[in-house]
Amino acid sequence: MPVNVAEFAAQLKVAPGQVLAQLNDLGVEVTNGSFEADSDLLELLREAIGTGSGDSKTISLPHGRSPRDIAAALGVSDKEVLTALIKKFKKMVTLTTVLEDEMAEKLVAEFGFKLEWAQPVANRPSASKVAKGGKHPRPPVVTILGHVDHGKTSLLDYIRKANVADKEHGGITQHIGAYQVTMGDGVITFLDTPGHAAFTAMRARGAQVTDIAILVVAADDGIMPQTIEAITHAKNAGVPIIVAANKIDKPAANLDKVLQALPQHELVPSEYGGDITVCPVSAHTGEGVPHLLEMILLQADVMELQADPKGEFEGVVIEAKLERGRGPVATVLVEEGTLKSGDVVVVGKTWGKIKAMNDYAGKPLKEAGPSVPVEILGINDVPMAGDAVIVVKDERAARSLTDERLEEERQRNVVGPKKKMTLRDLRNHLQAEEIKDLNLIIKADVQGSVEAVRGLIEKIESDEVNVKILLSGVGNVTESDVNLAAASNAICVGFGVKPEAKAKSEAERQKVEIRTYNIIYELIEDIEAAVKGMLEPKFEEEYHGTVEIRAVFKLTKAGKVAGSHVTDGKILRNDKVRVKRGTELVYEGTVDSLKNVKQDVREMFAGQDCGVKFTGWEDFKEGDVIEAYELVQID
Ligand code: GDP
Repeated sequence: MPVNVAEFAAQLKVAPGQVLAQLNDLGVEVTNGSFEADSDLLELLREAIGTGSGDSKTISLPHGRSPRDIAAALGVSDKEVLTALIKKFKKMVTLTTVLEDEMAEKLVAEFGFKLEWAQPVANRPSASKVAKGGKHPRPPVVTILGHVDHGKTSLLDYIRKANVADKEHGGITQHIGAYQVTMGDGVITFLDTPGHAAFTAMRARGAQVTDIAILVVAADDGIMPQTIEAITHAKNAGVPIIVAANKIDKPAANLDKVLQALPQHELVPSEYGGDITVCPVSAHTGEGVPHLLEMILLQADVMELQADPKGEFEGVVIEAKLERGRGPVATVLVEEGTLKSGDVVVVGKTWGKIKAMNDYAGKPLKEAGPSVPVEILGINDVPMAGDAVIVVKDERAARSLTDERLEEERQRNVVGPKKKMTLRDLRNHLQAEEIKDLNLIIKADVQGSVEAVRGLIEKIESDEVNVKILLSGVGNVTESDVNLAAASNAICVGFGVKPEAKAKSEAERQKVEIRTYNIIYELIEDIEAAVKGMLEPKFEEEYHGTVEIRAVFKLTKAGKVAGSHVTDGKILRNDKVRVKRGTELVYEGTVDSLKNVKQDVREMFAGQDCGVKFTGWEDFKEGDVIEAYELVQID
């Protein structure tokens, strides 16, 4: 029967962590807070744990516990326990190292609890080795972020040269978008397209492969605008950050300055009691790099990254290109399962049978397991970075799945791609209780305006909507801003800036709203109105055509008609018009009727003659020029 951990713990008057620790010890799997138990197992647990006094300051554990067991019993994170061990007791251990009793007692005391030793649990064959699925630890996948020129590429190069896992081929590493290094027993996968643009572009496509972000900060330069952007991107993705304070070989390097500046960006270094690891390094001399790699492995250990090499294959494209003589080549990162040469894969909207598979050093591979980046050859077309890769039974299955996907896409395009969040439809979302957050990305011309806009937006109050600024900075709206917006359902707001051409096309493709303003109060009013669900629709003129008045006809009953000729584009019966005499605007209004000879018509095109009447205006003259347009709602 299923037993709820929390309820069982409450019965025994102990912390749920203690029950979990015992269950873990017995190898009993816990799913969704419950475990399968018979009366024997429950009895055993009661015996082992004993009934607590209800005193929340005492925990009871059997001897021979590891930091992970203690963290679970205390209800704190693994990392907190490891940090305490390193800081207070100068003890560098892994999460699963068994601690001496005295150490364990001190450690527990450090968290304000008293440790009571419980009876050891007898080994119960039935409960002991319950398999926990086929999950195994897997190497962390790491991305390097940071400001331009702070040394991202240099650091990646240094690490690659010094630590590549494949020593034999290490000297001739080629660029496939990712590589692996070894450090003692540990392996780390680095994505070697540095910078947050690639990172966020992948995320916008729904692929999040990065486990840990390394934030490179040049110690002689400190935190710069792109450093802040990188922090925001990593935080929005929920990826833990390790800081590499680079260029410490330089005389001008000032580590303290970096340490002091980080807390302003909600990264509190462990030196100041926070949980952010800062590693001083030099990509030139290599100083500190081994320590950085160790810290990455430690972080990975804490995160308990796991995958099942025997599970169903899942992978993602890191990079893809067309190479002369080789055809479409894609670098795939294995997420689950194992990829084998000869497998038939469906990659995004294309497919193929893998005819060759190489590692980052160009060495042929037969198989690749979790977190391994491989270059694959044999697919029919070049996929996109972020595309998912799956293995299918045979070529027929691949073809039919790809056809299905293409058809789906075609359908989507007919209907139009799904619109992301816009200010105008905020109210509908709210009514449907779909969202509670309005996520914004703010770009402005100067730092002063950024601060001003931020300040005013932060003052907007609403019971229903949380207005959240995901990123703010100086400069035009860029492609990576749009990608971030797409990934987090945000709106890009520009003040005194424009979207870059790439950003504009990407926004159109991904249906991200970009709003630009030159007057700060219009910006604030719009956001306020949107939050209150009262945003007026916005219209834009859509040019239809130019029409020349060539004769004026007087009809006795129906008044005057402008005998006209469409010189460009078209004119529609319900169009709005502006009539100009030379440069002077003589009329602004709407078309009342549009005729071809005597027939009413809906529209007339360039080269055609027509009779036009205007609403409430007849003072037109031969030679007047009509500009026809329509007002289209743009949001
Ligand atoms: P990226 O734009 O962040 O990829 O930066 P790069 O790796 O291209 O480095 C920018 C410049 O800083 C180059 O001239 C590098 O040689 C230099 N650089 C990078 N790391 C170090 C370092 O640790 N020490 C010193 N002295 N210079 C470095």
